[in-house]
Amino acid sequence: MKFIVCENYDEMSARAADIFIKEITENPRCVLGLATGSTPIGMYEKLAAANLDFSRVTTVNLDEYYPILPENENSYRYFMNKNLFDKVNIDKNNTHVPSGTAKDAEEECLNYDKIIEKLGGIDLQMLGIGQNGHIGFNEPSDALVSGTHLTDLTESTIEANSRFFENESDVPRHALTMGMASIFSARKIVLLASGKNKHAAISALLNNDITTRIPATLLKMHPDVTVICDKEAYNG
Ligand code: PGA
Repeated sequence: MKFIVCENYDEMSARAADIFIKEITENPRCVLGLATGSTPIGMYEKLAAANLDFSRVTTVNLDEYYPILPENENSYRYFMNKNLFDKVNIDKNNTHVPSGTAKDAEEECLNYDKIIEKLGGIDLQMLGIGQNGHIGFNEPSDALVSGTHLTDLTESTIEANSRFFENESDVPRHALTMGMASIFSARKIVLLASGKNKHAAISALLNNDITTRIPATLLKMHPDVTVICDKEAYNG
């Protein structure tokens, strides 16, 4: 696992954007795995400003609240349209986010893994990290699920994400998330972390053994992971 420690959020975003720009330039038909949350917003801004040709790019997002309407401003479909897809020439039919309105969540998850498989896996996956060490919505647990699945959000994630909602009670209690195997199908992974509140998770990634209680530590087993974080996340 490679660590790049940046001066600040802006530099972290620029370093991450450079990796995605290189991938899209060298492989115009690439499959990108994308993440939501506040951390990647700066990186998406830079990616949109780079004036790249996204016409043959395909994307698969990590997760979505469940249930949630795509028009809901807190849905990850809404986030992706607003922060990236509406700003570039991507074909929306080639953008995949688990459906927050699927009647049958289990079927939606099976289909989602089939989409990833049919695409031949993910070329480059972006990840954030939760304060509790989650990746996607793979929350700390005694056992982790391999494929895309319906999951309960932990209290710590509900509290962390409540800043986007009017009330904590409005935060959905469930989500559809890619599982560890779906994430590990990515050939390259870039994990971003910014700010003091991510320090515990980043130092666990550096210092802890692999444990399902800190899902990000499983990334130690992947052959190509780059962690890009700012000084605050690295030093606390
Ligand atoms: P954040 O979320 O970027 O909003 O901190 C990251 C995550 O929970 O994976």
